[in-house]
Amino acid sequence: MNLPAPEELCRRAEEALIRCGAEITDAGGPLVARTPITGTELRTVTASSTDDVDRAITAAHDAFLEWRTVPAPQRGAVVRRLGQLLTEHKTDLAELVTLEAGKIPSEAQGEVQEMIDICEFAVGLSRQLYGRTMASERPGHRLMETWHPLGVVGVISAFNFPVAVWSWNTAVALVCGDTVVWKPSDRTPLTAIACDALLARAARDVGAPAGIHALVQGAGDVGERLVDDARVALVSATGSVRMGRAVGPRVAARFGKCLLELGGNNAAVVAPSADLDLAVRGIVFSAAGTAGQRCTSLRRLIVHSSVADELVQRISSAYGQLKVGNPFDDGVLVGPLVNRSAFEAMQTALDKARADGGTVVCGGERSGGSDSAYYVSPALVRMPAQTSVVQEETFAPILYVLTYDDFDQAIALHNEVPQGLSSSIFTTDQREAERFLAPDGSDCGIANVNIGTSGAEIGGAFGGEKETGGGRESGSDAWKAYMRRATNTVNYSDRLPLAQGVEFT
Ligand code: NAD
Repeated sequence: MNLPAPEELCRRAEEALIRCGAEITDAGGPLVARTPITGTELRTVTASSTDDVDRAITAAHDAFLEWRTVPAPQRGAVVRRLGQLLTEHKTDLAELVTLEAGKIPSEAQGEVQEMIDICEFAVGLSRQLYGRTMASERPGHRLMETWHPLGVVGVISAFNFPVAVWSWNTAVALVCGDTVVWKPSDRTPLTAIACDALLARAARDVGAPAGIHALVQGAGDVGERLVDDARVALVSATGSVRMGRAVGPRVAARFGKCLLELGGNNAAVVAPSADLDLAVRGIVFSAAGTAGQRCTSLRRLIVHSSVADELVQRISSAYGQLKVGNPFDDGVLVGPLVNRSAFEAMQTALDKARADGGTVVCGGERSGGSDSAYYVSPALVRMPAQTSVVQEETFAPILYVLTYDDFDQAIALHNEVPQGLSSSIFTTDQREAERFLAPDGSDCGIANVNIGTSGAEIGGAFGGEKETGGGRESGSDAWKAYMRRATNTVNYSDRLPLAQGVEFT
């Protein structure tokens, strides 16, 4: 495998940042932006101090007091402009996503496309923040609800979707009248600088207050300041279950609102009637795409025993065709793991699977790279049972294969893990498909039929149940998490009847 020279990657990062209008300073650290392509440094970035975070929250809170009274359709203008700038700089931002997260350019551009899509969605939403009017039980009364801006939204995001998750939150929060302080992953600080520069420009272009968005950089300790600050009305945190366990109770302790988007352990059921050509394509993209580093990556396959051998053979041969390597190279479909600890976690999981009686059908080994870059061939592992390692999320391309004979058993296996993000079934049997989507079917926030577990559209609400955290972002009515609801009763009569017929005279 030929890896590019580290200096070339530094140059590409710098040029993309400049094109996005980011201010480039030689910060001197202590935060180091690295690329998983070579495992080398791209540049250093200043981490935010306690005072920096405090100033950012103060500015966002001050801006909120003004922003909340700007009519929502006018607030949409800044998001519309952001969408235009993202379209203009799609390749630049995608370049940074590839450099920092290691995604192949097509997936990186897809991530930026998601940002453009959510901006369009949010602009439309800015004219549709509807409340209901209910029938009052009292004569001469009107009962209704109104939705008001919530306050400062603290966005904490993960390395693997370094820009899309920010935009899902920010585009919707801004039209809802909130302001945003963003703490990106410390593994992707440069993409964050580029996004912040584009939004700052959008705000300038439409005359929106500069304080509607602030970026703070650093590791979990910087995120904790957002978590603990009572001025942050909503903490929207995306990352591991470990992070959610730390964040959720702390926000709850101060009665703040929390939106958690945590890990998944996503499965697909493959029934005897499945179109196997379609299933293999869906499975390979979901399991091996993004080197298994999506929250929605397919990690478990629950296959009817009558088709298991054939399916495993076909996936294994498709895996043999996958080109693993430098994501910038033509034809490469699987880029690097984010770092050494991701590689070690993968090896530990494979060892545990073997110890539990699993058989590695193919993959799992290092596939070239360098001392500091970790490329692996996606692993396919047949398991005799859903042992503890299968019940964990290992953030790497490992696909465990389990078999079933009875459909109820398939559903039970499917739901028998602590996480509940994405799921799918490959079947041409309508009864099975409908059962999978029914109340006693998949227990996940996302349940698909005849497509894989990854690659959601922005129009639906995104998120999952159980240890995935219960939050919903993006489309449908996910915007309601970013606003507060007021119930209003208006008496337009000259009498004062009490509810429930209570007499008080
Ligand atoms: P991570 O949990 O290590 O970090 C996520 C973010 O949380 C980072 O910004 C980190 O600095 C911050 N953080 C960590 N501890 C914190 C604390 N105590 N207080 C405040 N902030 C803290 O996750 P990662 O390795 O960057 O990303 C991979 C994980 O994210 C996987 O588990 C994946 O499934 C999950 N993920 C979930 C979704 C989703 O929508 N459900 C999307 C993307 C990624």
